[in-house]
Amino acid sequence: MIKYNLTCKCNCTFDSWFASSGEFGRLMKKKLITCIECNSKNVSKSIMAPNVSSSKKIDNINYKFQKNIKKKIIEYQKFIKENCRYVGDKFAQEARSIHYNKKESKSIYGRVTTNEIDELNEEGIETITIPWYDKTEN
Ligand SMILES: [Zn+2]
Repeated sequence: MIKYNLTCKCNCTFDSWFASSGEFGRLMKKKLITCIECNSKNVSKSIMAPNVSSSKKIDNINYKFQKNIKKKIIEYQKFIKENCRYVGDKFAQEARSIHYNKKESKSIYGRVTTNEIDELNEEGIETITIPWYDKTEN
């Protein structure tokens, strides 16, 4: 996961998490990144993240932001479910078989431990980690 500080034309700045810089570029291109204050699509990446001290207003923004992020993650989950094959706990195994055999072009998703992710990364296998919400959760 990678954190970018984004600014909007309305002068609002906020932080947002992305799976990778490539993923950020993709979402930016598709105009899927919107301002948390005014919903405008005129957001851009700022170069430096400002230091902000905690205040009620910030907490409120954070809360709105968390809700927004959760919505985005759920949309993203839906996209993954529709476009990728679920492999459950066999993620590391399946990812290797795709990487080394190059037989399957369809992306996969499943559960994986952080150790397994480290191993896959060392082998040059790209993975994206996103927080996952269960359906039962509100
Ligand atoms: Zn805005």
